[in-house]
Amino acid sequence: MSTQQFATNALHACHDVTTNGGTRAVPIYLTSSYVFKDSDHAARLFALAEPGFIYTRLNNPTNDILEQRLAALEGGIGAVVTASGTAAINTTLLTLLRSGDHIVASNSLYGGTYNLLNVTLPRFGITTTFVDPSNPENFQKAAQENTRVFFIESLGNPKLDVLDIKAISKHAKSHKVPLIVDNTVATPSLLNPIQYGADIVIHSLTKYINGNGTSLGGVIIDAGKFDWANGKFPEFTEPSAGYHGLVYHDVLKEAAFIAKVRIEGLRDHGAALSPFNAFQIIQGLETLEIRIKKHSENALALAKWLQEQEQVKWVNYPGLKSSEYYELAQQYLPKGQSGVVTFGVEGGFDAAKVIADETTIFSLLANIGDTKSLIIHPASTTHQQLSDEQQESTGVTKDLIRLSVGLEDLEDLKSDLKQAFSKIGKKVLK
Ligand SMILES: *Cc1c(COP(=O)(O)O)cnc(C)c1O
Repeated sequence: MSTQQFATNALHACHDVTTNGGTRAVPIYLTSSYVFKDSDHAARLFALAEPGFIYTRLNNPTNDILEQRLAALEGGIGAVVTASGTAAINTTLLTLLRSGDHIVASNSLYGGTYNLLNVTLPRFGITTTFVDPSNPENFQKAAQENTRVFFIESLGNPKLDVLDIKAISKHAKSHKVPLIVDNTVATPSLLNPIQYGADIVIHSLTKYINGNGTSLGGVIIDAGKFDWANGKFPEFTEPSAGYHGLVYHDVLKEAAFIAKVRIEGLRDHGAALSPFNAFQIIQGLETLEIRIKKHSENALALAKWLQEQEQVKWVNYPGLKSSEYYELAQQYLPKGQSGVVTFGVEGGFDAAKVIADETTIFSLLANIGDTKSLIIHPASTTHQQLSDEQQESTGVTKDLIRLSVGLEDLEDLKSDLKQAFSKIGKKVLK
């Protein structure tokens, strides 16, 4: 593994210019398939007896560079990129779990993930217990005989709770299940969950890693440390009917999981990333470190300013001393706490909606991690289908506004919010 620093790896890791025609930029290999030398060659590739490209649903040279680079930046042994962050989560869980299995998950997950676990996976016999992650012991308490994974977000979206990954990982280890960490909001530049005991790290590449809102993508990164032969995962120790009797743990050793994600997960679920999107994401990844630093600085400054505004009831940003996650943020995110800020306004649901509608620099849309500033009022949009109780547990109160603070000049962002605040009275009281 490279001994170079993050910024250098983000620009150079795993792109050998001598084998890619001398191209300084990573080239886009826009091809669905690869010509075999002969049938024996093809047979060796399919039997994993020789490495090589087969079909872009399984692997691709552009995607391969992105995969290796992201694995290097997170400290993993391998990675698989997927069509979206959601595809990364889904492919991971369907690779590991079977009907009858159980998940223990944090209750402050991204809305889409919450629905996958709460509504869709139960249709296939995979159930989840959601726990308050602020007490790591809750994971242990909720673990059952059939529990097979713990699932958390390092920095919850949109609750912005910083999780004690080390403490939760201890409970995962004592229960002999892998800890899966969605590290999307924190990014590998600010936090590497594997250092604190995560077994699998997931990102939506759509957010800060791509960084300018052009492409969807996801990644699954394997720490390569989990013992799949501990008796709980027959998928890895018994001959796989899905891959001509391959015993993953015997043949692929510590890479058993990430290999199965590729050769069965991508093959059967088909959520492959377009090489064109991989190229776009590589452009973003190159500047991740300086962008996320600026996102974090702008977000902290704006959060402090919001605290002083009379229309603002509360502000949540883990970099604020007033945040209940401040101590954990200093431990896990000392370099910066990313670009998402939430706050509540006097006037509740209606006033919050006015602000989301009236800002002009902040675009009203459902995304985070763009260079441009974004705003949303989740209770009236992304989280409208959740019950009051679910909204409360996911951290989405009626008055909550979520900002994804971009790279614009801070004074312009303040002016935009100020003029939106001035419209509250007129609209809500009418
Ligand atoms: C956006 C997001 C996802 C889903 O990613 P997509 O690329 O939109 O599918 C998952 N987790 C978190 C924390 C996210 O913010």
